This record gives sequence, structure tokens and C-alpha cells, in this order.
Amino acid sequence: MTDDSFATDEAGVPTVSCTRCDREWTLDNELDNLDPGSHAIEQFALDHERHTGHYPDDVTPWIVRCRRCPDGEQFLAERPARRWAETHARHTRHAVRIEAPTGADDVVSGENDENHS
Ligand SMILES: [Zn+2]
Ligand SMILES: [Zn+2]
Repeated sequence: MTDDSFATDEAGVPTVSCTRCDREWTLDNELDNLDPGSHAIEQFALDHERHTGHYPDDVTPWIVRCRRCPDGEQFLAERPARRWAETHARHTRHAVRIEAPTGADDVVSGENDENHS
């Protein structure tokens, strides 16, 4: 039964498909030693974007863009995106816009004069 390659889908092996490339990848075979699930997909998607200029299906990046300088990054999860924005804002005092995949943008202000915590 273990020879049945179709069984891997049901075993929770992450797969990624791209309709633009008309391809599908099983990440378990492509990338070893990665945490199961989103992390491997994240890594793969960033890699795919680097090579092809687009993301695979079902992957929408968080885009952080500084409003004062050309700095910016793309992430596939909110936490690192927000961390990047907050770090950049703190270091440069620039305001950084966070564009969420859902379209609800947010701005991390570079001003910290109202921080009384
Ligand atoms: Zn593609
Ligand atoms: Zn900046």
C-alpha cells in the first residue's frame, strides 16, 4: 500500500499547484527537512515567484512597502510582514504600509511619540 503514490495527498503532504505553469508539485519530494505545511509552501512560493514572477495558486503575499523610501518586502504570513514593517519603522521612523491579501491595508507609523505603554 505504501507504493501507492496517490495516497500521499491524504497523508497531509503539502502540494502546490500553479495554473499559470500548468504544474503541480508535492513539496515533500521537492524540499526535505522542512516543517510540514505552511512553511514549506511559503518557501516554495517565494522561490517560485523569484523564478517566474508570479505566485502559485492559493498564495497571496503580504506586501510591505515603505512610504518614504524604496524599501519593501513580500511575505506569505502576517507576522513576519508586520515585524518587518515595525522594525523598519522603528529604525528609520518611516511609515510603512502593509497590504494584506484580503485588501485591508494597514499602516505602521514611524512616529513613536504616542507610545505610553
Ligand atoms: Zn507558476
Ligand atoms: Zn523606509
